Amino acid sequence: MLDNIQIILVGITHPGNIGAAARAMKTMGLSHMRLVQPKHFPSAEATARATGADDILEQAQIFDTFEESLWDCQLIFGTSARSRRIAWPTLTPKACAEKALESTGKIAIVFGREQSGLTNQELDLCHFLVQISTNPSFSSLNVAAAVQILAYELLKTLENRDIATKENWELGSPLASAESVAQFYQHLEQTLIDIEFLDPKNPRQLMRHLHRLFNRVQLIETEVNILRGILTAASPR
Ligand code: SAH
Repeated sequence: MLDNIQIILVGITHPGNIGAAARAMKTMGLSHMRLVQPKHFPSAEATARATGADDILEQAQIFDTFEESLWDCQLIFGTSARSRRIAWPTLTPKACAEKALESTGKIAIVFGREQSGLTNQELDLCHFLVQISTNPSFSSLNVAAAVQILAYELLKTLENRDIATKENWELGSPLASAESVAQFYQHLEQTLIDIEFLDPKNPRQLMRHLHRLFNRVQLIETEVNILRGILTAASPR
C-alpha cells in the first residue's frame, strides 16, 4: 500500500547507514530506496546492517544527481534537523504521513548527508520540510533513525485509515512531475532575465521565493503548461 513512496538518501558516507535505513523501511512496509551519490555501495557493511532487508538494497536505484532521482516524483518532502533562512512550510512526521497518504501521485521523502544534511538548493526542490521534534540543543538524529520515524508514521497512519489512497481531488490532471516543474523554473528564470526583472549578477533570493510560492500550491500538469505558455507569449521577441 505504501508502494508509491520513494525513500531517497542523498550523499550517505557510511554504508552501514544505508543498510540500517533499508531495515527501517522493510519493517514498516516500504520498499523503494533511491541513493544519490552514495560513497560506498554496494557494500558488505550495508548488507550486514540490513539484516534481511537485502532485497531493498538489491533493488535500490542509484543516481548521480538529486534532480535525476526526483524525475518521476510529484510530491517531495525533505527532512531536516535545521530551520532555514527563509521560512519554508514545515510539517511534523505525522502531518507528512497524512499528506503523503492523501496523494495518489509518486512521493519522495528525502534524507541528507550525515555531516551536513541537505543543501538549501536541494531543499528548494521540496514542497515541504519535515522536522522531527528533538532536544533543541541536540537535534540531529542518525539518518537511519530518522528514516525509521518517518516510516513508522506512514505505517501507523495507513493502519488508521480504511482506504489509504483517495482520488486526487478530481483535478482532472495529475500533479506536475518534478521534471516538468524544473523545466518551468528554468523557463521562468530565463524569461525574468530577458525582461530584465532578474539581474543574474545580483539574483538575491528571488528564485527561492518563487519556488516557495509555487510549491505552496502544488502545480498540476495543465497549470505548468499554461504558465509556460504565458512565459512564451510574454517574452521579448
Ligand atoms: N547537521 C545536519 C544533520 C544531518 S543528520 C543537519 O543539520 O541537517 C542526517 C539526516 O538525518 C538529515 O539530513 C535528515 O534527513 C535526517 N535528520 C536528522 N535529524 C533530523 C530531525 N530532527 N528531523 C528531521 N530529519 C532529521
